[in-house]
Amino acid sequence: MVLQKHIQLIDKQLKRLKSEGLSVGFVPTMGALHQGHISLIKASKKACDITVCSIFVNPTQFNDKTDFEKYPITIDRDVELLHDAGCDILFLPSVKEIYPKGLANSNKIDFGFLAQTLEGEHRPGHFDGMAQVVERLLRVVKPDKLFMGQKDFQQQLIVAELIRKRKLKTKLVTCATVREKDGLAMSSRNVRLHDEARKQSLIISKTLKAVKRKVSSSKAAIAAIQKWGYSQLAASPGVEVEYFEIRDATNLKPEVDKKKKLVALTAAKVGGVRLIDNMLL
Ligand code: AMP
Repeated sequence: MVLQKHIQLIDKQLKRLKSEGLSVGFVPTMGALHQGHISLIKASKKACDITVCSIFVNPTQFNDKTDFEKYPITIDRDVELLHDAGCDILFLPSVKEIYPKGLANSNKIDFGFLAQTLEGEHRPGHFDGMAQVVERLLRVVKPDKLFMGQKDFQQQLIVAELIRKRKLKTKLVTCATVREKDGLAMSSRNVRLHDEARKQSLIISKTLKAVKRKVSSSKAAIAAIQKWGYSQLAASPGVEVEYFEIRDATNLKPEVDKKKKLVALTAAKVGGVRLIDNMLL
């Protein structure tokens, strides 16, 4: 695995590889890697000749300063995991390399409702910062395929829109959420859960699964099932629920028609750690 820290150098290397006719898959991350990230590396390796992973804790997408400061950094282990997974190039840029003119975003994309609802409502500015760095990284790597996780459901819908609006030549591939054996969606933030909170967090995936069952097998209306899901989390000790919503999976609009492609999405704080999860219904 080659480690690249500078845009000029990774650009040169990728140009050479592409000129040999090799296809490039890209997995952008913020590090503190786990098997969820590694599943994306594996998907990229299967579909593309060369796999590039980036690790960049993007300051512009954190609306909460403490969350940014507490974001876990485990670079030595990350390098080991990526090497073992067969990643070809690790791009590890500095903030200055990504934002040479400073952090201000002068060319924001208007994603409309898609970026205003759910996470957009609870983390103002988050998606502007996310789109800013993803566009920057895509313009550096220019991958044939971009691999992202369903775990960040709203994020992958917004990135699909970013690719469309900016007319980029990358195909987005969304990969299934990888979970711990007991159901908790893997996340870099999980290491911050203390023992009690780790146990309490299980209610999130349990509720999503129960809601999926209810939507497919009960006659109850979507609104009633959504309310039930919310109340399950709200009544659970140690859980501070932010939202529990059933939405149209293509545009996140509130939807009551069981025949549509639906997704249940939730965000909750457990032991002071903010967790998100979702399930297609
Ligand atoms: P992050 O490092 O949290 O910014 O995530 C980098 C990429 O990994 C994003 O596309 C995430 O959606 C994806 N990802 C994070 N957790 C998981 C998971 N448990 N399963 C699958 N993909 C994930």
